[in-house]
Amino acid sequence: MDLGLNEKVALVAASSRGLGRAVAEVLAAEGCDLVLCARGKDALAETANAIRTASKRKVVALTADLSNAEDVSQVAAAAMQEFGRVDVLVTNGGGPPAGPFESHSAEAWHAAVRQTLDSVVELTRAVLPGMKERHWGRIINITSIAVKQPVDNLILSNSVRAAVTGFARTLANEVASSGVTVNNVMPGYTRTDRVTNLAAKNAQLRGTTADEQLGLIEKQIPMGRLGEPREFAAMVAFLASEQASYVTGASIAVDGGWIKSLL
Ligand code: NAD
Repeated sequence: MDLGLNEKVALVAASSRGLGRAVAEVLAAEGCDLVLCARGKDALAETANAIRTASKRKVVALTADLSNAEDVSQVAAAAMQEFGRVDVLVTNGGGPPAGPFESHSAEAWHAAVRQTLDSVVELTRAVLPGMKERHWGRIINITSIAVKQPVDNLILSNSVRAAVTGFARTLANEVASSGVTVNNVMPGYTRTDRVTNLAAKNAQLRGTTADEQLGLIEKQIPMGRLGEPREFAAMVAFLASEQASYVTGASIAVDGGWIKSLL
């Protein structure tokens, strides 16, 4: 299937590693030029170079902290300056810290809102007018299975991602007649640094091994294994495509069957 993404411009946030990087790789392979951002300069430069070499597409990479409003607007401004437009926006960020309600200060809540909700709102604000003008746009937010089935010990993520989902679902209808679709993709447990580091940390706390911790997660997943970032990225690429023109306002899980609800 030709996804119709050749020569499109995609901005993928938090894309030096993990899910963001996998999304950037597949979009570049489909012919998109890219704007990438992340906090760590070296990992970002390595990712940008690898994608440039593999895809021969133009890749602009900016060091940015998505919990900082100024950095967020600089990323959007750089995209406009370099390409004059963004056709596909993929929002993403580092996950908020784990822990029960009483372990998080007011500032921790504000930081989670800034990174996970405000960055989505502000990147959308920057790219939406152009998408509407050209009557073509795709906004895809990376959220989490926690939106449908809250995950224990992740109260910040469970709460703020629900807000992103409410924003996206409402916006989807507001812009539906302008050729712009807005969707969320909910990753289940996927083999990225975040998940393997978390497993190593839990192993240390519990006196076991990271593999044992990952095994416990795999037991909760009907497919019996973690997802791979490329399996997640394939869904994002489809939602970004020409063919997905009638899909909007959806939250789609890529979770090996982890969510147990009917809908
Ligand atoms: P990861 O840690 O492997 O990669 C995160 C990326 O975000 C990196 O490129 C990092 O540099 C960047 N980043 C982190 N904080 C940033 C900030 N403040 N500003 C800019 N860039 C920042 O994580 P991942 O597994 O790819 O997860 C991506 C998102 O998906 C996270 O929000 C995570 O909570 C969510 N998620 C992941 C899973 C999973 O199993 N991997 C499951 C559910 C939800």
